[in-house]
Amino acid sequence: MEMKTFTVKTAKREQLVDITAEVMEIISKSGVNSGICVLYVPHTTAAITINENADPSVRVDIEETLSKLVPYGKGYRHLEGNADSHIKSTLVAPSITLIIENGRPVLGTWQGIFFCEFDGPRTRKVHVKIISD
Ligand code: ZN
Repeated sequence: MEMKTFTVKTAKREQLVDITAEVMEIISKSGVNSGICVLYVPHTTAAITINENADPSVRVDIEETLSKLVPYGKGYRHLEGNADSHIKSTLVAPSITLIIENGRPVLGTWQGIFFCEFDGPRTRKVHVKIISD
């Protein structure tokens, strides 16, 4: 199946956005029952991850802890002023792979898929490649 792309509008400089529903819709529309889904974020100051989406405080804890680990504007060499955003992007990673079974992504009960904004607010892209087996 050819690559699909959807956009994510972020509202804050640092924000985890739950994109599970968008990803599930693309997988469902693909008609693929069993295979692999690669999600890829083509940005140097954003990322993608899987974590708990049942309790919204987990998302906030991740945002706040990453900001403590890699603080904004603390003596970096990169002159654009967003060195912390680039470092957070690399720590979290720009891509994840999902297993598709029975036409759905295999996720644990409490797991959701999050787009991670580290230099927003912006409109961002997520690329999706689905391979049937
Ligand atoms: Zn930069």
